[in-house]
Amino acid sequence: MSEKGLLIVLSGPSGVGKGTVRKAIFKNGVDFEYSISMTSRNKRSGEIEGVDYFFKTREEFEELIEQGELLEYAKYVDNYYGTPVRHVRDTMDRGKDIFLEIEVQGAEQVKNKIPEALFIFLAPPSILDLECRLKGRGTESDEVIKERIAKARKEIQMMYLYDYVVENNEVDLAVERIKAIIQSEHLKRERVEMKYRRALLELEEEEI
Ligand code: 5GP
Repeated sequence: MSEKGLLIVLSGPSGVGKGTVRKAIFKNGVDFEYSISMTSRNKRSGEIEGVDYFFKTREEFEELIEQGELLEYAKYVDNYYGTPVRHVRDTMDRGKDIFLEIEVQGAEQVKNKIPEALFIFLAPPSILDLECRLKGRGTESDEVIKERIAKARKEIQMMYLYDYVVENNEVDLAVERIKAIIQSEHLKRERVEMKYRRALLELEEEEI
């Protein structure tokens, strides 16, 4: 029996650059798969169905929630986002790692369901830096900006749920660090030991 794949969760406060880092990770090919999320938000120009997201109506999404088809889901800026559970399960069963890039409420749900997954928190270089980015995003009112900042501060407090923190000072460096974390996770004694234990058991059985 082959070893189960790892479930890797990349999350962090909104505005920290999770999407950019995730795209950079997959740009040059990696030996883990990306879990394409479902969303009820409108497709942005350039986005492709089944590549960026599976786009659903609000009703379709709510039906999927009821049918238990989602590993986690969250409402973010009035739209649903969620992870189809089947692809995650099948990929892990095939012995392949699967990578989720999701916001913090979803990551918390995964932590409750699958605590042994690998949780990586993408953090801003500083809280001030994140607040500058949230302010600089566009044309929102002071009220909306204030709300976003309050939310980002709460999201940063969720860091305690994670195994590793990677500061997003520079995308290439963050990508390198995330790949290194995944590699080290595979070398953890608990994971490697299992393989050797099985081999020893098989040898002993043959010798009987
Ligand atoms: P965007 O609309 O910019 O593509 O994504 C908005 C936010 O939703 C980002 O923070 C992204 O990480 C998060 N997100 C994308 N897919 C999922 C998902 O399947 N579940 C959850 N909980 N969040 C998601």
